[in-house]
Amino acid sequence: MHVANRIQALKEELDRMGVKLIAVSKTKSPEDILEAYQAGQRAFGENVVQELIGKQEVLPKDIEWHLVGHLQTNKVKYIAPFISLIHSADSLKLLKEINKHAQKHQRMIDCLLQVHIASEDTKFGLDHVELIELLRTDELAALRHVRIRGLMGIATNTPNQKEIKEEFRELKTLFDGIKASFFNDAPYFDTLSMGMSADYKIAVEQGSNMVRLGSTIFGER
Ligand SMILES: *Cc1c(COP(=O)(O)O)cnc(C)c1O
Repeated sequence: MHVANRIQALKEELDRMGVKLIAVSKTKSPEDILEAYQAGQRAFGENVVQELIGKQEVLPKDIEWHLVGHLQTNKVKYIAPFISLIHSADSLKLLKEINKHAQKHQRMIDCLLQVHIASEDTKFGLDHVELIELLRTDELAALRHVRIRGLMGIATNTPNQKEIKEEFRELKTLFDGIKASFFNDAPYFDTLSMGMSADYKIAVEQGSNMVRLGSTIFGER
């Protein structure tokens, strides 16, 4: 099956459930991305800033770019003019830097707070205590050019479906709790980014409304 067919089948499946598809195009060529674009896909995710800006320059300007990988503070300036959503905000220092560059470009940058839900300790993200601490600081509320839209998490890379399910369930519970207690149920706090090719069906069952799919769309990397 070609990229276009995969996109169409996935969109149909996910649209029905109100889940937004982010096509993760890391390591794929602009030609591959154009194929998905021509099938109607507009939201693409990358995990390396240099690669993201290279592609952004040569591809259609109505593409919505998502940063799904770890972001270093010294790289924020390159993506600040155009980035649609940063999935990987994980410190106040980083959020302050995003705010600073967003202000320079007179825009608001949407961010998700990345939460560490996996049992592996190699993955980035805030643990529960750090997350609550961050949400409590007045400094976060003072950032006028950053809007926290929700949470993102990456489950453990394991064949154990039950473990994955538990991790996603926990993140959904956290999302609901934070929305109520820190965002006063604000409608803009609406995005729960969880699920990749191997586990997106479990993620959607557990309440994800944004999935980040790479290999399912573009084939193995
Ligand atoms: C690579 C990547 C994805 C997509 O992974 P697949 O298994 O190819 O679907 C999703 N999220 C993040 C953060 C990634 O780095």
